[in-house]
Amino acid sequence: MYCLECDCAIQKAVYNYSTDYFGVPLCMQHQKWIIQKIEQSSVTEESLILYFLLKDNGVDAELEKYDGHKSVDIVIESAKVHIEVDGGHHNYNSKQALADLKRTFYSFKRGYITLRIPNSLIKKEPEETADYITDFLEINQRRISKRRYSPFKFAR
Ligand SMILES: [Zn+2]
Repeated sequence: MYCLECDCAIQKAVYNYSTDYFGVPLCMQHQKWIIQKIEQSSVTEESLILYFLLKDNGVDAELEKYDGHKSVDIVIESAKVHIEVDGGHHNYNSKQALADLKRTFYSFKRGYITLRIPNSLIKKEPEETADYITDFLEINQRRISKRRYSPFKFAR
């Protein structure tokens, strides 16, 4: 039994406690980490659910990462993808929507694609959402990490 966050081995009692309370296996340190995040309400329930579903799919996701400009809900560096889990106000409020577009542009200039996932989708179809995103990440990872051509002819 291993912590979903840090992969350290955890005892059966810790495993049972964690899966009872959080739905996922976490070591004591990462249980505290999550409780702190929930208490500071810096992270929403929906982004936590999506984050752990992605981790469970083997995605090297990072929760609440500062990108030098703002805090991003979920970051996958290997695929250069930012995920923002948004409430309804991101659609209804044009000021918020414009701020979001500017953030997306700022990230895109630095090579990052931003996926905006509505809270409502995670509430309704959490697993399908996480699986779709995982497929998306796999394709993007292949694009950025697999070399297809050998442009060494130019060097001759
Ligand atoms: Zn841990």
